[in-house]
Amino acid sequence: MADFQHHLIYGVGMSVTCAAVGHFQFGLTPVQAGAAAILGSAASLAPDLDHPEGLPGRILFEILGVLIPIVTLPHLPWEYKQQFAVEHWILYFCLAYLVVRFFLGYLFTKLMTHRGIFHSLPAACICGQIIFLWMSQLLFMARVTIATIAVIGYVTHLVADEVYSVDWKGNSIKRSFGSALDLGHISEFSTWLAYGILISLGYIIFQQVNAMPMVDFRKF
Ligand SMILES: [Zn+2]
Repeated sequence: MADFQHHLIYGVGMSVTCAAVGHFQFGLTPVQAGAAAILGSAASLAPDLDHPEGLPGRILFEILGVLIPIVTLPHLPWEYKQQFAVEHWILYFCLAYLVVRFFLGYLFTKLMTHRGIFHSLPAACICGQIIFLWMSQLLFMARVTIATIAVIGYVTHLVADEVYSVDWKGNSIKRSFGSALDLGHISEFSTWLAYGILISLGYIIFQQVNAMPMVDFRKF
């Protein structure tokens, strides 16, 4: 299995290269290409979110520990918030951080198995679908290009894991070989869930594209 540093090097290298191609061949603006390189790099680290001790997972829950209390703030009852003094805010943010970072993080790692559904091709496609839907303000071709770069970043991680599963010196294959670049396992609930999400997002994208006015995509 490749470590975090190797994944970062391969992911950033591949994403920057693809973003440059996106700029010169597929009409991405320099800003869009920069965003695509960042999203591709982030996608190349995403599969290891399921690793309990993994750096990406720890970073994610560190960020969520700050973001979730901020995002949920507007939804707290107004009468309740009005009574908040500084000490309440300190307590609120500290407790919320601890709950998200440690309790939710713990639950997540218990529910997910390493090299489970996060390390699979349907997960790579879902990543691309999410990016495509997120970039809804852009033209169709730019959305497709950026989403494709994210998928390439994600798949780069899976390929690196498979390559590192081969002991090239000893000409042998480690047990982990074949557990990164696969289609999921029919016996696991997470596989069914992933395909459900894949089909649902696919349907939403189909509806969106269908609702677009008929355009000549060669112009984009
Ligand atoms: Zn991995």
